[in-house]
Amino acid sequence: MLEKILTYFQKPEEKTLIKSAYDFAWRAHRDQKRESGEPYIQHPLGVALMLTKMNLDTETVAAALLHDVVEDTPHTIEEIEKRFGHTIAFLVNGVTKLDKIKYGGAEGKTENLRKMFLAMAQDIRVVLIKLADRYNNMQTLMFLAEDKQKTIALETLEIYAPIAYRLGMGEIKGQLEDLAFKYLHPEKYKWLENEVAEKYETHRAYIDKLRPVIFGIFKNEKIAPLEIHARVKHFYSLYKKLLRYQMDFDKIHDLVAARIIMKNIEDCYLALGAIHQVWKPVPGLIKDYIATPKPNGYQSLHTSVFGPEGKITEIQIRTPDMHEKAENGIAAHWAYKERNFFSRDLNASKKELAWVEQLREWQKAVRGSDEFLQSLKIDFLKDRIFVLTPKGDALDLPEGATPVDFAYAIHSDIGHQCAGAKINGRITPLNTELQSGDAVEILIQKNKKPSEDWLSFVKTNLAKERIRSVIKSKIKKVIRIQSKALSAINLRVVVRDRIGILKDVTNVISSQKINILSAKSEGAKDPYHYLNFSIESKNKQKLEELLFAIKKTKGVEEVSFKI
Ligand code: MN
Repeated sequence: MLEKILTYFQKPEEKTLIKSAYDFAWRAHRDQKRESGEPYIQHPLGVALMLTKMNLDTETVAAALLHDVVEDTPHTIEEIEKRFGHTIAFLVNGVTKLDKIKYGGAEGKTENLRKMFLAMAQDIRVVLIKLADRYNNMQTLMFLAEDKQKTIALETLEIYAPIAYRLGMGEIKGQLEDLAFKYLHPEKYKWLENEVAEKYETHRAYIDKLRPVIFGIFKNEKIAPLEIHARVKHFYSLYKKLLRYQMDFDKIHDLVAARIIMKNIEDCYLALGAIHQVWKPVPGLIKDYIATPKPNGYQSLHTSVFGPEGKITEIQIRTPDMHEKAENGIAAHWAYKERNFFSRDLNASKKELAWVEQLREWQKAVRGSDEFLQSLKIDFLKDRIFVLTPKGDALDLPEGATPVDFAYAIHSDIGHQCAGAKINGRITPLNTELQSGDAVEILIQKNKKPSEDWLSFVKTNLAKERIRSVIKSKIKKVIRIQSKALSAINLRVVVRDRIGILKDVTNVISSQKINILSAKSEGAKDPYHYLNFSIESKNKQKLEELLFAIKKTKGVEEVSFKI
């Protein structure tokens, strides 16, 4: 495996670094075995190879080789730093810290997610190593005890797969989900496997039949595809889709899709046009994710057509660059700028970095674990829809989001002053649930304030927080105005202790029509007692009358006050 990794690196100093990281890891783990009985080094090697194939930089691959050294052997992070420098030590340390937290219940999940995202905000490569680590562990899960399998599989499904998706790593996300699905719901997995075995074959055979036909269509248009292959839907996403369609396979048209790789964007559109001339598209299923990429960066043209024999067939068209990004997501952006001699994809990487920057900001703003998990679940991991601004930019929001969420996602001021909304050109109520692809326009009214009712329907924490902050400051203002008019006065009455004295003094105060904010009795030197009152009075004369009346009460020795 080491030889294979080394073939990806050209420069001698890169090869040397990888080799010495391997030697160090090999020696550190030499007496350890995996549950499968293999030498332990196979695991870091597998992780490193996966990251190498994603074209990640030398430091990431070296850190992957060393990622379990600090956790599982006596070697320290200082040693790694001395030998391999700051960056590699930083990456190893990041992965080690993520290993420290054990999964368990909702709380464990929160903490793990929090750590993952904190790590991501610092250096996304830590999370890439962690994802590859998990992927490798999932592949050898059969060697573990059943309860451990389930815990790890659940964690993979709830934490790792969504993160992979969020990072645009579609292929890894799909594989992680399928592996987890198999261990979490073995019967369902078996059932699905049996159900689709034949169907996949029929569909695949159909796509194979389609290939020469598509080549023929393109030939007439003088465009050439680089590749046409069949994309088989991942099990877990198929299962989820089946649940939405009453387990009816006939309603699922993308069990196997034809995927066409074209050399550039122009050819993608030409290809789409050529196909639509021959096979009629199913209305409503043409999706242009090239012009408006999905929020995680995914780009492709999707269409479903009535193909030969009237079969509805999904076709995806994309460039090689889009294909790599769909498979490897954020790692693809990293790769281009860190290692290869390819021209840098500056726009894309800038966009990704802006996204991480946003995450970093957001980390700072959200306090407390519960609040963090809540916002994470809703703003980050829930199924997303994307809607369009009047300028045609795509904005991603959680499912169920409303125009008010949209307005706040654009800008606080637009949220605050939001007075109405147009969806696809039509005026609609502010609590309407947005659908993917909706074009939304917000009508604003200067100096308008958000309404408290909005809190009952907005979905994003961003919107909630902003609305609350305005309402809170409004309430504070009212209190401030009130407290200027009314001054609270603390009254201390020294009494000889006797039953009913508190009640008597309280009655005196009430009889003067003065509000009592609080009353407390407190022991003093025997036989005396303190009665402490907080009262409201605007009027100095009234206060003097009150003090006089209290003094006359039986048992009262002394009265003092403080404003
Ligand atoms: Mn590991």
